[in-house]
Amino acid sequence: MKKSLRPIGELDLIEQIRHDFPATRNKTVTLGIGDDCAILRPPSGHEVLVTTDFTLEDRHFRRNLHPPESVGHRCLARGLSDLAAMGATPMAAFLSLALPADLLAQRAGQTWITRFFNGLRSLADLHAVPLAGGDTSESPTNSILADIVLVGTALKGKALRRSGARVGNSLYVTGHLGGAATELSAILKRGKRITRITAMDGHPHLFPEPRMDAGEALLRRELASACIDISDGLSTDLAHLCRASNVSAEIEQAALPIHPLALKLGPIAALEAALHGGEDYELLFAAPAAVRMPASIAGVPVTRIGSVTRRRSGRPLITLIAPDGTRSALEPGGWEHFSNRSKTHR
Ligand code: ADP
Ligand code: MG
Repeated sequence: MKKSLRPIGELDLIEQIRHDFPATRNKTVTLGIGDDCAILRPPSGHEVLVTTDFTLEDRHFRRNLHPPESVGHRCLARGLSDLAAMGATPMAAFLSLALPADLLAQRAGQTWITRFFNGLRSLADLHAVPLAGGDTSESPTNSILADIVLVGTALKGKALRRSGARVGNSLYVTGHLGGAATELSAILKRGKRITRITAMDGHPHLFPEPRMDAGEALLRRELASACIDISDGLSTDLAHLCRASNVSAEIEQAALPIHPLALKLGPIAALEAALHGGEDYELLFAAPAAVRMPASIAGVPVTRIGSVTRRRSGRPLITLIAPDGTRSALEPGGWEHFSNRSKTHR
């Protein structure tokens, strides 16, 4: 965006987006940006999966702390991770944006928008997801609001659900836990804007990696009976999976693959981050004990962390087994919107 001195209007911005996200290499999108609707053509024998996620300033990011590339990346990553959790293949993304008038009028604001789209585009390119439409409006407040819609496909009847876990199944997670919460708390503590990030690797909060290939492989190889992505923290998302499947779970503390960043916090804080920290965007899934689970799927390590047990009234939904064998109830302690437990920022 070169003409930085005059305010950019809605049409300029859409033209810019259209230019920066040229028509698709994805043959399932028949018509992308430019008409009243996009036209999608799912492959035959597939179902369409749709997910939508808000990215709200001061709720999900802070303009004075987060690099704009990270805001764009995380906006798309949230939606992609929901598709990964169901084993779906992304087909197209749609982005509705409300931008404050100031942002559109000032050079710094226009740079923010460009950098936001750069972050979003890098991740979109990585996973070959076309941006096929959206909406753009001036925000009535001074806040940036973004809503991303992801559309994906999965073979009919095969999408991985939360409700398929059975008693006796093993529980697994991909990757490592607690990294995103650890990086976020370091950013909040430092309280200074991060101007440039040289590499996306090693920034589990700023640039999480949605597990698209692992999710698709779980579906294709029929390895999982149930799956969810860990967006709100292991304890909270495992409780969702247990409730949806009407089962309980036991987690072995010693087996948890704790992220190296979290380990630096010391054992107690590291465990807290791994159990309750959100936004790791790893996959948590169940599989019959007879399934021989590979040590890694699509290049991502897979770790067995516990098992699915019968749900009994008066017994905890989730039990944590300490290294010395002590058992305790694990209460969901992750992110819950609008609850008293909500942390102020995620
Ligand atoms: P309408 O008046 O039909 O809503 P718009 O002028 O809002 O049309 O949008 C024109 C085209 O630009 C549409 O294809 C729409 O999907 C696309 N578009 C608008 N805003 C965005 C955005 N933020 N990201 C991607 N595509 C967008
Ligand atoms: Mg519109």
